[in-house]
Amino acid sequence: MSLNADPQELSKFGELAHRWWDADGEFRPLHEINPLRLDWIDGLARLPGKTVVDVGCGGGILAEAMARRGADVLGIDLSTRPLRVAQLHAMESGVANLRYREIAAEALATESPAAFDVVTCMEMLEHVPDPAAVVQACGELVKPGGWVFFSTLNRNPKAWLLAVIGAEHVLKLLPKGTHEYQRFIRPSELGRWCRQTGLATQGFKGMGYNPLTQRYSLSADTSVNYLLACQRPA
Ligand code: SAH
Repeated sequence: MSLNADPQELSKFGELAHRWWDADGEFRPLHEINPLRLDWIDGLARLPGKTVVDVGCGGGILAEAMARRGADVLGIDLSTRPLRVAQLHAMESGVANLRYREIAAEALATESPAAFDVVTCMEMLEHVPDPAAVVQACGELVKPGGWVFFSTLNRNPKAWLLAVIGAEHVLKLLPKGTHEYQRFIRPSELGRWCRQTGLATQGFKGMGYNPLTQRYSLSADTSVNYLLACQRPA
């Protein structure tokens, strides 16, 4: 079976792995949005005591924060170096209930179907050749009644202007080449993939960046970066 992954994307994240926990480095936007998405996930899914898999966890910014909130977290990714960084950081910070594995979401879904209370898959679908297959795997990983959370980038001229030109070229919030416009995903597409796999979509949120205040916030505006909460019917 061929792997649903783009080797160039994986090595791009691998090359930057040592910078993952530098809050002022290339991954600064992930550090800055982390409290927002963490509170949103926790508010809906009630993390303490829950089993969570974080798909495409990278260096573990969200995975580790969810474990600190009291969840039992497994982070998975297909890029080796970010996973090593995540593991080292977890050891250094002494966070319990946190493990990492190099395995594809599809393979884990075959191995442990309906094993998790919560599945998170953030800022990852727009880096994958077949995102619908990852969505399906996330739907298979969650228990009946459990929550699945996605975040990605919308595909329209404004998203291209802000997320590619603005973020990578003007404000230099992200390295050039971080995002490929053709891989961006409309909320309607993501919602359809979720429903096709039997997930009920519970709500979209927009995530915006204000260049004047240099702050991120959640809103109803899903035109650029957005999150989706879904639930598997009990
Ligand atoms: N989810 C994390 C990291 C986002 S960066 C966060 O939001 O903080 C995107 C991550 O997706 C990288 O770590 C990259 O290695 C991973 N990724 C890309 N393609 C993947 C695939 N096919 N399977 C698993 N992870 C993948």
